[in-house]
This record gives sequence, C-alpha cells and structure tokens, in this order.
Amino acid sequence: MSANSTTAQTHQNYIGGEWRAASDGSLDAHRNPARISEVTGYFPRSTDDDVRAAVDAAEAAYPAWRDLTAHARAEYLKRALTLMSERIERISRVITIENGKTLAESRAEVVAAVKEMEHQIHQGLRDLGEIAPSATPGVLAYQSRRPLGVCAVISPWNFPFNVPGRKCTPALIAGNTVVLKPASLTPNVGLEFTRLFADAGLPRGVLNCITGSGAGAGETLLGDSRIKAISFTGSTQVGIHINQLAARRLVRAQLELGGKNPMVVLEDADLDAAASACATAAFACAGQWCTSTSRVIVAKEISGKFVEALLARARALKLGDGLDPATTLGPVCGTQQMKNILEFIEQGKREGARLLTGGRRAAGEGLDDGCFIEPAVFVEAHPGMTIAQEEIFGPVLSVFTADTFDEAVSIANGVRFGLASSIYTKDLERAMSFLERTEAGLTHVNMMSAYKEPQLSFGGIKESGSGIPEGGRTGIEFFTEHKVAYVRYRA
Ligand code: NAD
Repeated sequence: MSANSTTAQTHQNYIGGEWRAASDGSLDAHRNPARISEVTGYFPRSTDDDVRAAVDAAEAAYPAWRDLTAHARAEYLKRALTLMSERIERISRVITIENGKTLAESRAEVVAAVKEMEHQIHQGLRDLGEIAPSATPGVLAYQSRRPLGVCAVISPWNFPFNVPGRKCTPALIAGNTVVLKPASLTPNVGLEFTRLFADAGLPRGVLNCITGSGAGAGETLLGDSRIKAISFTGSTQVGIHINQLAARRLVRAQLELGGKNPMVVLEDADLDAAASACATAAFACAGQWCTSTSRVIVAKEISGKFVEALLARARALKLGDGLDPATTLGPVCGTQQMKNILEFIEQGKREGARLLTGGRRAAGEGLDDGCFIEPAVFVEAHPGMTIAQEEIFGPVLSVFTADTFDEAVSIANGVRFGLASSIYTKDLERAMSFLERTEAGLTHVNMMSAYKEPQLSFGGIKESGSGIPEGGRTGIEFFTEHKVAYVRYRA
C-alpha cells in the first residue's frame, strides 16, 4: 500500500536504536474504529529481514545490558516511567484512536501501567536470589537468578499499553533484551510505548519494536532460534499454536489467554452494588477485557429485580467516539471484531436465548461509520449454548438463573476457560466455599471480575493460561533462570 493517498502519518519500526521503514517499504493502513473511513496511520509490514535485524540488535545489546547492575538498569527504566507519567494524555489519545475505548478508560490503562512498571522495577531490585544455610561448614550455598537472553513479547490490542509494560519491564530489569511485536490493530500504541524508552536513552537494541501481522512478523519472530522466552497475551487458539512452537525448541512460554468469566449473585447480595459491578465488568472497554464478566448467574428468587437493575445500566450507556467526553461506551476494535460479535449474537438468538436489549450495530449521527454495537443482555440462556461457552469479547452479557448455590458454582465452572470470577453475597461461608471451588486464576468477593493489583500475579488456569504468570513476584521469575552455587571459602 502506498502512503501517498492520505495525510495520515507514516510510522517506523524501532530497531537497534533507530527508527526504520520496512526493508521493502511495505505498509499497512490502520483505521479508526470510531470512523472506519479514517486512516489513522501507516505502519511497516515488517519483513523477515526486519525481524532478523531486530533480533540481531537485541542479541548484540544483550551482553552489555546483562552485565549492568540491576540498579543501573533501573535508572533507565525509571526515566522511561517519568516520561510515561508526563505523557499520559498523549498516550491515552493514541490508545483511544486505535482501540476505540473511551479516553477515561485509556487514561486508566496508562495509570495502571505506571503502577505495574513501578512495582516490577522495585521487584527487580530485591528479588534476585536466595542464600540457604549450607550443610557443610565453610561453604556458602546460594541460588541466583540470571537473565535468559533475547525475549519475544507479543501483545494484544485490548490492553495495548499495559500488557507490553507488564511484560517488558520484568524482562528488562532482569537483564534481558526484548523484541516487541504489538497487535496489528494497535501498532502505534506499541511504538509510543517503545518511544518512551528510546527517549529515556535506553542503550541501542535493548528494546526493539516491529509492527506487522501475527501470522507474518509474529510467526517469523517466534521461529528465530535465538529467542529464549516468549511472553504472549492473546487468544487461546493462537496461544496453543505458540505453545507448540515453543515446546519444539524447549523455549519457555508465558501464555495469558482468553476468558469466559462468571459472576455469581446470591439472593442475599447487595443488588445495586452487584448490578453496577456487573454492568461495568460486562460493558467497560466494550466488553473487551480478558477479565470482563460475560456470564452472570443469579439466584432465581432475585433474578427479575437484578435483570431490571442491569438493563437500566446497560440502556444508560452512551455510545460514541471515545474522544468525546460524553461517551461511556466506545466502538469495538475494528470491523472484523464487530462482525464476529454480531455473529455470536445471531447464534445466541438462533439457539433460543432471549435478547432483552441491544445486540445490534448502532446507527445514527456519529455512529454509522464506526464499529458500534449496542450493549446486549441475553436471558433464558443455557449453559450449553455457544454464547455461554465461547469468548465473545464484546459488550454481550448472558444471564443464567440457578436454584441453588451448587448449581450456580457448577454453571460458573462449566466452561473450558478459567481466567477470572466473582461472587456477590453477604454470606461468608458461601463466599469462602466459592473461593475454594471456583476454577479461575483470579477471583473476587463483592468486587467485579475485572480487578487486579500489581503486587500480585496475574494468570489464568484451564485454557486461559499456561506457564509462569505475569506480574507480582512471578513476572521476573518467568524472565530468569536459576543458577545454584556452592562456594568453599574455608578448608
Ligand atoms: P490474538 O491471539 O489474535 O493476537 C494476539 C497477538 O498475537 C497479536 O499481536 C497478534 O498479532 C499475534 N499473533 C497472532 N497470530 C500469531 C502467530 N501465529 N505467531 C505469532 N504471533 C501471532 O488475540 P487478540 O485478538 O489480539 O487479543 C484478544 C484476546 O486476548 C482475547 O482472547 C483475550 O481474552 C486475550 N487476552 C488475554 C489476557 C490475559 O491476560 N489472559 C489479556 C488481554 C487479552
């Protein structure tokens, strides 16, 4: 594609400390999900040569970066963090223009990234090994963590800034070098992330960013035998494929994948609080959080009231361009994503669930040219239906009713995913029982499913994740290997 047809900016990869076009000059256009006719920018469709150059640069930079002290590495990362705090508005606009989420949601993402990165930098200064009392007098026994080398980071479009932050920071503070491949729907966010480190003076080649498709640049990157670890966030389908690639070379993989997250609302719950949390977790970011609530399982005796409260909240959402401060629900991220979601909604209707509100492509002033879907609430859904089993990844919520607590837990657990869950109840015993039985990597009581803090790990179970989880203390564990030493210092 030629870049001449528009005034939209042409962007470059960041390889070995230089901003560079694709080696063959090829570009992909990116379109604004709020106005599909608007091209927001042109991005390198990275070739095999570009990918190789990025890995070359990361490989060349590795020994010197590894040999710095963690404190010296932290100084560079803290400078990037300072720039990040100064650029919150600029980065948030880029997120909204590429992903569609509202500016408030984008700001929240950047603020969350700052906190995640701060935590990982501090973690890197204090959690790098352990001394064990030796069984032999005069021997010092310890284990240290060593970096792995060149790591690949593949990030998704739904949290296009926070996810690279949560992955690249522990990799870098631990002494690895990184090649980042952002999702093709949010390339500029990945480049803006990288620019912070470039502007902070990070040594050449320590962090590189190449844009392009997953099947093209992504696959080539992961096929490079010099990659020592792969940190991936995305769909379960692609995650399984990447796990196979990694296993063939005994490369470690950290896979953060899809979800089908349940919320259980018992008859003694604070209904208002539960309905608010449910609406936020289902419809914020247009339902495109991996930890979104997409199934709510409600005690039969309160289901009528709960659905009423939920519908009022869904209908009050204001669809529009995320840059407009009045908007509370932005577009979904691109035309393919919109098609997929609308197809799931049709499938739900065909299978017999009753759609109480929304579920159509939104029309009207400011909406016709964008990927807007009215927030949808299904009732009379059954656990076996496609909409109850598959990750829709859009503003679509299915309500189930349960006669008993056991039935609610069984519906909640009856999917192949296991990312996040939550329960609303005032009954401590049943809350504790839910915590014990829920099949999720992340669970909540009287809080929504989409809540996390940086000091604790973040990862799914079942088909929602595999490998050492991100964040918390395990973020750095994934990007390091153990080396054990026994030192006789006295005969
Ligand atoms: P995706 O799997 O389509 O793509 C994710 C990334 O992988 C993109 O950068 C893409 O370009 C790349 N990719 C695709 N095919 C590849 C290949 N063959 N080789 C190498 N790279 C490849 O997912 P998406 O649509 O970008 O993101 C949405 C998905 O991510 C949802 O399923 C969501 O639940 C999941 N997600 C999970 C978490 C979590 O922490 N568990 C967080 C955010 C998103």
